[in-house]
Amino acid sequence: MTARILIVDDIRTNVKVLEAKLTSEYYEVFTAASGPEALEKAHSTNPDLILLDVMMPGMDGFEVCRRLKADPETAHVPVIMVTALGDPEDRVQGLSAGADDFLTKPVDDISMFARVRSLLRVKLMLDELRMRERTSATLGVISPPVPTLDEDYSSARILLIEDNPRDQTRLMRMIEDQFLVNLVTDGMEGLSEARKQEYDSVVVSLGLKSPDGLRLCSQLRTTEQTRNAPILLLVGPDDQKALVKGLEIGVTDYVVRPIDRNEFIARLRAQVRRKRYQERLRQHYQQSIQMAVIDPLTGLYNRRYMASHLDTLLTESAQQHGTAVLILDLDHFKLVNDTYGHQVGDDVLREVGARIVRNIRGMDMACRYGGEEFVVLMPDTTLDAARVVADRLHRAISSAMVAVRAPVGELSVTCSVGLASSIDADSAEKLLKRADDALYKAKADGRNRVMVDGD
Ligand code: GH3
Ligand code: MG
Ligand code: MG
Repeated sequence: MTARILIVDDIRTNVKVLEAKLTSEYYEVFTAASGPEALEKAHSTNPDLILLDVMMPGMDGFEVCRRLKADPETAHVPVIMVTALGDPEDRVQGLSAGADDFLTKPVDDISMFARVRSLLRVKLMLDELRMRERTSATLGVISPPVPTLDEDYSSARILLIEDNPRDQTRLMRMIEDQFLVNLVTDGMEGLSEARKQEYDSVVVSLGLKSPDGLRLCSQLRTTEQTRNAPILLLVGPDDQKALVKGLEIGVTDYVVRPIDRNEFIARLRAQVRRKRYQERLRQHYQQSIQMAVIDPLTGLYNRRYMASHLDTLLTESAQQHGTAVLILDLDHFKLVNDTYGHQVGDDVLREVGARIVRNIRGMDMACRYGGEEFVVLMPDTTLDAARVVADRLHRAISSAMVAVRAPVGELSVTCSVGLASSIDADSAEKLLKRADDALYKAKADGRNRVMVDGD
């Protein structure tokens, strides 16, 4: 996995040492010698990970981290704080500034690479989500979510899997007033509980007997329902090797025993934040895609989506018969609004949309083109076959009363239809124009009829 890493340290030798190690593993490395330079480079070099020294003159690492995490452009970039002190208080301060992990100087290679890889995996997933986010942003909809340090943690669901009775009590006492904690006292049971419902974090004790902690983590990672669940591993001070293995398997974070309550809480909070941010990105993406392509009144595709789809149809698909395009416009619809009101008008549009959908084939695409205009795309369809569809749609709309809200109850509408075919290898724009010209003729000839381009 190649990635861009920004190293921040005011002491040149420290930078050189880390730079040499990371470059030898084929990471692309950038460096900064102060807090302000770090903030600048975090923008200009677009790093996937930041290794940040805590003790720097002027702006220290905590402050740099806080600023990175408060900036929507850099908030998602994982930060590993490099500290000379192994002090839990330092870690808590770092975690509340938004740091994702810690390394103690002198930096041990194996644990550094394990941590780097583990955080890069998380970053990769966030990147994918953020990329989709940008796509939907260019489609021009609601503003995207940003990661935040403020959350309601008391509603966060934590699954604690620990089979040692003494530790069960101790751990529960530390966190039960902070989160909604579900304690499971057996590994197998923990696994099935994790599959049953979604947790914001699954806390696994490395010392579990069956299955052992690492095996349980790997099973969580390979099972569909729990693949993305954050895992916090509880390890002993001498479990360095197992921890490295755990990070390779995909454990998201860890706490070293004896467990410091504040650090434990701060790490759980960090997991909750990341999980919720991911969820928000996913939800927002789905919602914006919907909004970007669907007309809310009728549930049909909107004009923009139809236009891009028509482009694709004309340029990318090998069709024997070409694409037929039909434009349908309600006659004197303004009169319906003027007589009965806009809401009744909306009822009519919804019903017309539904009738169109019922009268076309699965491969055809119906869209709301504008106010009371609809378009149907019929891929690989001869003009004669399309003519049959146009007549059927015309009849379906014009010959049966439309139910609307009380007190009107029902009313009748008619429509005019224009039809054209792409067989002469037109652009989407020209094809739509020909269908629209045919529609105009239908209107001019007295409405309530179908007109075919070229007839
Ligand atoms: P023509 O037969 O020439 O098409 O006459 P028309 O009245 O249907 O056409 P015109 O373009 O003059 O008016 C279209 C009307 O459609 C104007 C507007 O009141 C109505 N309309 C457009 N969008 C909506 C909508 O979303 N809801 C409702 N209720 N009415 C709409
Ligand atoms: Mg009209
Ligand atoms: Mg119109």
